[in-house]
Amino acid sequence: MAAAGGWRPPPTLPEIAFAGRSNVGKSSLINRLVRRKALARVSKTPGRTREINFFQVNDLFVLADLPGYGYARIAKARQAEWLPLIEGYLRNSERLRGVVQLLDIRHDPTDDDRLMLDFLSELGVPTVVAITKIDKLGRQAAVDRVASLTALLGLDTDQVIPFSAVTGEGRDELASALVTLVGKPG
Ligand code: GDP
Repeated sequence: MAAAGGWRPPPTLPEIAFAGRSNVGKSSLINRLVRRKALARVSKTPGRTREINFFQVNDLFVLADLPGYGYARIAKARQAEWLPLIEGYLRNSERLRGVVQLLDIRHDPTDDDRLMLDFLSELGVPTVVAITKIDKLGRQAAVDRVASLTALLGLDTDQVIPFSAVTGEGRDELASALVTLVGKPG
């Protein structure tokens, strides 16, 4: 697969991967998290529409932007492409320190979301769950919804970070969670 055989950033920095289904708000979250000027694109898996983009964030870590999965308009056969690509990446990343898995606050987790979360726990990869677009709900509704998603998926409360790319809420919590992850020995 592309990720397993393709060019990878030199394994000198820890890596953090970002995953979620298409339209979950991944680009917006990454833009909020890291000022674009601080981002240097270091590589992408070549020749693929569903590719992995690698960015180096200062001298801290490499950010792996995994392809968004499960987009409704993509035919079933194409949808399944994401799995071996992402799986190959996750299994072969020596420097992977953690994954940020994104979930949209308005939607129930899909089968693909559950597949990802199960796979991450099977691999034992530290996982932070960012619940995106919390500004779309009122404050109390958002708090309740975060609690029910946390329970539904059997997550630890301290794994879950409510996030809004519009208001910036959750940005600092996410940044400090990443600093903790990259500081941990693999
Ligand atoms: P991606 O496909 O996962 O990279 O998703 P994008 O970052 O492109 O976002 C998909 C859509 O959701 C866009 O229309 C964004 O403007 C919108 N969006 C993303 N994050 C937020 C958020 O925190 N709040 C709101 N209200 N909209 C958001």
